[in-house]
Amino acid sequence: MDFTNWEPEKVLKKVFGFDSFRLLQRQVIENVLAGKDTLAIMPTGGGKSFCYQIPALILKGITVVVSPLISLMQDQVATLNGFGVNAVFLNSTLEWNDYLAAMNSIRRGETKIVYVSPESLNTPKIRDLLLDERITVSCITIDEAHCVSEWGHDFRPDYLEISSIRSQFKDTVFLALTATATKDVRQDIVKNLRLKNPDVLVSSFDRPNIFLNVKQKNRDALEQVVECLKRHFGECGIIYCFSKKQVDSLCDELNDLGFSALNYHAGLSDEVRKKNQTAFIRDEVQIMVATLAFGMGIDKPNVRFVIHYEMPKSLEQYYQEIGRAGRDGLNSEALLLYSAGDIHKIRYFFDEVSDKTRSENLLQGMISYSTSRVCRRKALLNYFGENFSSQKKGENDFCCDLCSSEPIAKVDMTTPSQKFMSCILRVEERFGMVYVVDVLLGSTQKRIVDNHHDELSTWGIGTELSREGWLELCALLLEENYIEKFGEYNVLKITQKGRMALRNRSPIFLPFQKEKFSTVKSLSKKSKQKKSFATNNSFDTNNADKPKFPKQAKSKAIEFENFEDADLQMRLKKWRRAVAQENDVPPYIIFNDKTLNDIVTKKPTTTDDLYEVTGLGDKKIEKFGDAIVRIVNG
Ligand code: ADP
Ligand code: MG
Repeated sequence: MDFTNWEPEKVLKKVFGFDSFRLLQRQVIENVLAGKDTLAIMPTGGGKSFCYQIPALILKGITVVVSPLISLMQDQVATLNGFGVNAVFLNSTLEWNDYLAAMNSIRRGETKIVYVSPESLNTPKIRDLLLDERITVSCITIDEAHCVSEWGHDFRPDYLEISSIRSQFKDTVFLALTATATKDVRQDIVKNLRLKNPDVLVSSFDRPNIFLNVKQKNRDALEQVVECLKRHFGECGIIYCFSKKQVDSLCDELNDLGFSALNYHAGLSDEVRKKNQTAFIRDEVQIMVATLAFGMGIDKPNVRFVIHYEMPKSLEQYYQEIGRAGRDGLNSEALLLYSAGDIHKIRYFFDEVSDKTRSENLLQGMISYSTSRVCRRKALLNYFGENFSSQKKGENDFCCDLCSSEPIAKVDMTTPSQKFMSCILRVEERFGMVYVVDVLLGSTQKRIVDNHHDELSTWGIGTELSREGWLELCALLLEENYIEKFGEYNVLKITQKGRMALRNRSPIFLPFQKEKFSTVKSLSKKSKQKKSFATNNSFDTNNADKPKFPKQAKSKAIEFENFEDADLQMRLKKWRRAVAQENDVPPYIIFNDKTLNDIVTKKPTTTDDLYEVTGLGDKKIEKFGDAIVRIVNG
């Protein structure tokens, strides 16, 4: 079908089955249609692909998309073909015959979008093809454009060579897309891609469908993970760990408990990694336990949770990793478990990197976020330079653990607070919170001994609280403005208010959960339950231990409560899986969970009704409409 000169909204509806554009999409599309070079910065899952796909259909000629990863290209092409769009990719993995077929389809002017790697764009064969006078290149899109910047985390030297094609395609509009927003990266993109007087558009980095949940890691962190997995029973998610060893052991433990999990890290062979990744993408296994090596190039839309079993090294890394949740727009959860142990571990590896100050700064950002008492969303977005005014407590259930938690009763914390503050004074207000806590707990770390801080009167006087307890107390004292953080190392200092309180021995009452953090009353340590969590469906029974969690934090996928809906959902899933297998694609390429749930809700009984369902364009209705209607009517 020819969409030349169509309205963008009409193409969106007709081809992709969606009703309206998201923030910024419309503006970027207009720029491309008007031939204006543009750099668009939108978060992961923000919908960057439509920014070039829709113009590609409207403009005459072909759109070239430079993409860094073969898996990404394959996924995009499969998705587009599923919507009936003629798209191909050219890279080294193609069989000769397929390569020729793709080249011919481009020459004949049938292909609307061609994905290429930066290397292949630089080969004479492809340049000659694109410069062939029968072919009009309407737009050159550089996806994941931060790869041209050495400041970015995925620098790819071959991306730099893209710039040399600018002179050969003087009149073609260039569109650069990325989710990385820092200034250095932005400048590099504009410069290295030789964008012509570009419009730089930045959208909000908020991902409102991701519930931000941050918890101190308990002694039994596995239990905290299992609790989260039970909330997301039957759904897909990623668990990030710091080390390969931790990945393997957690993965084993989860399988022992009856969960379906696979591992992914640099220690595995390419073959195993690929196999595990494919199984995860195709919903054959629900949980991926991985190091940070996993994720780039994963466009899987139905990741319902991302758990950080260990703290990431920076908020940049954290934000990128949690961004893999909820790309389909359905509610999802990001759970971060942090501990002082993680902080030590990250620092330990600083010795191997050259820029210690920068690493420490990044880590401090992460620590501040984890221990902060203000709305997580506000803290996160502020860090990235965006203003976000948080709702009042209780007003927005689906935001973060802090916004949705019940207020905790205030208790007398005078003595521990005095100990904590005197310890800050004894170390001369020159150290951060982890150090102060270590002194209180009587640590004999080299640093502490070298500083003679094991000789202080406050050394080892803090055994009544756990390490987590002291960190929690520190967060509360910060929030109540008894103490403050200072400088780039977040050194703790006592405020005027804190000094007065110390001097006058004023009582200090704080919302502190004593029973949770006290070491005096020894908590009866639960023997590890060996029974299978995953096969026992008790996750929704009246369990007194059930964590308080806003209902919406569960995805819609398990919210169908009446039998009829749940049954229809199951039958649709079963059918989708079979069709996906037949076509050798992941189930979401057939249609994603959002579409599936919309079918369950709207129950279309005729093919005409299907036009009301989100994510079903003409082609999908033509291909699958009858089958869907049959299942609904079944
Ligand atoms: P990005 O490249 O920015 O990470 P994608 O382009 O892959 O994000 O889009 C993420 C998801 O959002 C896809 O499943 C896509 O279909 C969906 N999406 C994008 N724009 C819209 C829209 N306007 N309406 C509905 N869904 C959309
Ligand atoms: Mg993308």
